[in-house]
Amino acid sequence: MIKIKDIQARQVLDSRGNPTVEANILLNCGAIGRGISPSGASTGRLEALELRDNDAQYLGKSVLKATNNINDIIKRKIVNQEFDQSSLDELLIDLDGTNNKSKLGANATLAVSLAFAHASSYSKKLPLYETFSDTTDYSLPVPMMNILNGGAHANNGLDFQEFMILPIGFNSFADSLRSGVEIFHTLKGLLDKESLSTAVGDEGGFAPALTSNSQALDLIVKSIEQAGYSPGIDVYLGLDVASSEFYKNGRYILSNGESYNNLDFTGYLAELSSRYPIITVEDGISEDDWDGWKILTKELGEKIQLVGDDVFVTNQSILQKGIDCNIANAILIKFNQIGTVTETLNTINLAKKNNYNFIISHRSGETEDVTIADLSVGTSSGQIKTGSLSRTDRTAKYNQLLRIEDNLGPGYFNKYDVFKGWLK
Ligand code: PGA
Ligand code: ZN
Repeated sequence: MIKIKDIQARQVLDSRGNPTVEANILLNCGAIGRGISPSGASTGRLEALELRDNDAQYLGKSVLKATNNINDIIKRKIVNQEFDQSSLDELLIDLDGTNNKSKLGANATLAVSLAFAHASSYSKKLPLYETFSDTTDYSLPVPMMNILNGGAHANNGLDFQEFMILPIGFNSFADSLRSGVEIFHTLKGLLDKESLSTAVGDEGGFAPALTSNSQALDLIVKSIEQAGYSPGIDVYLGLDVASSEFYKNGRYILSNGESYNNLDFTGYLAELSSRYPIITVEDGISEDDWDGWKILTKELGEKIQLVGDDVFVTNQSILQKGIDCNIANAILIKFNQIGTVTETLNTINLAKKNNYNFIISHRSGETEDVTIADLSVGTSSGQIKTGSLSRTDRTAKYNQLLRIEDNLGPGYFNKYDVFKGWLK
């Protein structure tokens, strides 16, 4: 147990220039820790609440209620008290008392919870990733790099939110990262040559005005080849369809006017994943279409990874329902969808127990906080989603993984082959 001496919260800015919550904890032993909450744009309906002031400041987006909740309600309960991570998180959950953190705000509880994780690892003189694990089963994750952005993260007419590359066939994280960077810059050259925009979206990927999902995938395959790698051997593809964003009245409606029911949309995704070396599809079906999820899982669940993001929202009881209904075979893990470190770890443990893959993920609104890099190593997630190869809010996480790899030494990259029999 560790005694907290002081806590201070303030409003800082995220990568989109919106306010977010930072908490700083000082322990009696002199250790300090800082946590900053990220922020999503294409949020799941059942995510824990991000408390915003909705008044005149920052066009309604200020978070002074949340920072005040820390500096007042939370501070009074934790200063001069002793905690470990789970007892602190339990107190935060009890103090909030709602099922979606709507009283204190998940942005408030998470900043405190993260700050404590950092302070306690510092006080124990342990790397942060060790504090997320009770074993020494560490591994360096395969990065899922979102090099082409669409959907709610760009304004280019692409329906799918993320077109990702997964450099799997490498011996180290550093080599995997290097290939991703080379492909990213090659793609930039290709876009330039075709007079397409090389401006980047919220997660640092390019956001050119393309006419179809196939055109995006063709460009990526070409850039993998031109960079000197083999698609489907060294480097695989992944999609975050984020389909809840274009699911209306029971149909999946694309911007070219095409509209599908869940059976046909599953067919559309199956066709794309047979034409391209796609190994993972996230939110291929809407969070409001569980029948569709059953169809998708039945059709593609043996062949590729099917990731639930909006549908599971890092929530242990929703994931349990999904497992019971045989929906998806993987879950995206985002700290701020649930609001504390302990609840995040509980959801991860449920996924592990049920043989579901889990992917540690950033949000589209990020900061200099790199905790997710340590979480991915400490929990041996095998995969991390932290954007493209530009913008410091994204590359900071990759840089932290480089540091951790140096610290651990060779042999930890993709150690547990999380892709099972899916590699073609
Ligand atoms: P968000 O997007 O952070 O805007 O929700 C990321 C994702 O959907 O995976
Ligand atoms: Zn997603």
